[in-house]
Amino acid sequence: LKKYYPIKSPLGKLGGIKNYVKAVNDVSFQLYEGETYGLVGESGCGKSTTGKTLMRLTDPTEGTAIYRNQDIFQQKGKGLKKMREEIQMVFQDPYSSLNPRKRIGNTLEEPLIIHSIGDKKDHTNKVMDIMGKVGLQADHYYRYPHEFSGGQRQRIGLARALIANPKLVICDEPVSALDVSIQSQIINLMQEIQAEYQLTYLFIAHDISVVRHISDRIGVMYLGRMMEEATTDELFANPLHPYTKALLSSVPIPNPKRKREKIQLKGELPSPLDPPTGCVFHTRCPFAMDRCKQDVPTKLQVNDKHVVACHLYD
Ligand code: SF4
Ligand code: MG
Repeated sequence: LKKYYPIKSPLGKLGGIKNYVKAVNDVSFQLYEGETYGLVGESGCGKSTTGKTLMRLTDPTEGTAIYRNQDIFQQKGKGLKKMREEIQMVFQDPYSSLNPRKRIGNTLEEPLIIHSIGDKKDHTNKVMDIMGKVGLQADHYYRYPHEFSGGQRQRIGLARALIANPKLVICDEPVSALDVSIQSQIINLMQEIQAEYQLTYLFIAHDISVVRHISDRIGVMYLGRMMEEATTDELFANPLHPYTKALLSSVPIPNPKRKREKIQLKGELPSPLDPPTGCVFHTRCPFAMDRCKQDVPTKLQVNDKHVVACHLYD
């Protein structure tokens, strides 16, 4: 998948397109049915853009996204509508995506109307049912978004994503805006719901310890590229990419006897408008070699659970 955003010249039409932000640059991964795949990286690494492109909220520049043998990007009309029913999204800030003048019950009913699921009486039952599942009370049906706390709003966001009975839920920083104590409540709830509805999650977050808790596998992104991908246990036990090691350096180790190599990142995150040549991480990598400045590392399959893109291993 590639997603480039054109940057127009300050001269407008006369100047044409000046440059591109390569938000997602050649990212490829698989998502298995029933798993949680954690996509992690600093803000601006392209993880949200990946999620939005899969949701067709923005068009890809290049690539395919095969969902149940069909390319998401080629869907139109009925096919697209069906996919929009099966693939739902949960956002970081549910408040901004909730209509402030609509009662929660009506907001939750909306996807059922859009996708022509059931009649009015079914709708009320379905809404009540899903509200119970996410831990909201029956009288919340008549309340407005401003009457809820952040954690409750994320419960509403989850209920809205779930009501049309999706198969895949793309969660973009679903707990990042919440207090730490509430974060674990919502993550636990998401896990319960996943088991009950047999959902597949693409779980996007900047915090690798949040991602660890819920993911079966993790992909680490940096400046629009995938650096490393492994099962969660493997990634934490045996991180290979220097960037992953740097991310993990800030995560406390439960067992202090086990030592983990600490890596301090040099310098600032480069601008995605002018990403470094070769390995995009070379300007900050303590192990950078001459070839890292020219050659883009290709993905190397280390074992059946682990893939890394770094010249240290090829
Ligand atoms: Fe560092 Fe080179 Fe590996 Fe990039 S390819 S992470 S610069 S050693
Ligand atoms: Mg983001």
